[in-house]
Amino acid sequence: MSIQSKYVCSECGKEFEITPELMVCPFCSQKQKDTEPLRGILEIKYSADGPFNVEELLPLDLEDIPDLPVGNTPLWKAEHLGAHKHLYLKDDTGNLTGSFKDRASILVAAFAKKHQINEVVLASTGNAGSSMAGIAAACGIKATIFLPKTAPKAKMIQALQYGAHVISVDGNYDMAFDLSLGYSKKHKLLSRNTAYNPLTIEGKKSVAIELFRQFGNAPDYVFVPVGDGVILSGVYKGFKDLLQFELIEKMPTVVAVQAEGSAAIHNALRDGHFTKCSSNTVADSIAVDIPRCGYYALKNLQKFKGQSVLVSDDEILIAQKELSEKAGLFAEPAAAASYAGYKKTQKGIDPNAKIALLITGFGLKDIDAATKKITFPKKSIKSIEEIK
Ligand SMILES: *Cc1c(COP(=O)(O)O)cnc(C)c1O
Repeated sequence: MSIQSKYVCSECGKEFEITPELMVCPFCSQKQKDTEPLRGILEIKYSADGPFNVEELLPLDLEDIPDLPVGNTPLWKAEHLGAHKHLYLKDDTGNLTGSFKDRASILVAAFAKKHQINEVVLASTGNAGSSMAGIAAACGIKATIFLPKTAPKAKMIQALQYGAHVISVDGNYDMAFDLSLGYSKKHKLLSRNTAYNPLTIEGKKSVAIELFRQFGNAPDYVFVPVGDGVILSGVYKGFKDLLQFELIEKMPTVVAVQAEGSAAIHNALRDGHFTKCSSNTVADSIAVDIPRCGYYALKNLQKFKGQSVLVSDDEILIAQKELSEKAGLFAEPAAAASYAGYKKTQKGIDPNAKIALLITGFGLKDIDAATKKITFPKKSIKSIEEIK
């Protein structure tokens, strides 16, 4: 029994062999404009000539995937967070480097090793970089990371701790993205830029397969924090694979949660097209001007009747504090956005619905944001009499 995989362009439908040289459709990418999402995103399509486990639906053999604590994350019940009796947290804070990004990095690292490539390059707002740095370290390959100089310090520290080559960019994430592409092309290295490397979408689909296993079926709702739209697209891809092989009957309602200050995909779902935005939000991991996976994410949302909701920075920070206080789950702002989005839309959801909130990154990754809703002790004491 074997599984065959190939690339299919999400725009023109042309098929290609999966090779490290190919990232986006060579035809559709020629239409690329600077200010729009990526054209010609490649999707992996599978066929199987016999029975198999869904976990085997990868462009690599299972034994090529390094044995690291990535994915297979806990799904636990949020008893005190909402009225729904089947409200669950899909807790990705416990991945090797503390974020959901490890799901993509591990597949890219395995692919690099398989093709004897020893250096991976990427741009990051912080988490993708620290993730690739940690996984590359564990796999014995080199990571070069283009990070905007405004990235949260903890994420930069993480990448440096793991021994990555960190290049600080005097500009935003979009500038880092373009510089890193120039660098990887010039030096013929593998790019792990999110959405651009199709394996980033494919790696992130594992969360859908896990939700299917953990719920015993597809849940009714999945809340996803959205920046570039790759996690969202990965969630859809996993459920699409499950639909293709008739393991589930219907697509869950996927809710894209965006910050008011970084709303490109939400606006595009409303308007039917993308307009140029500039981002500003406390949730740095979902702050993007151009959502790289925008066209592909939008296509999925439209096809499967997904929804979107905007949350303010204050709603995000309140959600962050509540997740910590009522569930013991300390998440970074972007990760808490999915709970903020649930709070905003929960009234319209059937009380029996099975709901999963993706909690995508650990709270200490952004210390500045985490101090906004807490009060430090005013003074230090020497005796218990001083305690008021
Ligand atoms: C990257 C990231 C997201 C958003 O993922 P996109 O693929 O950019 O939409 C959400 N939460 C966290 C913690 C992230 O690191």
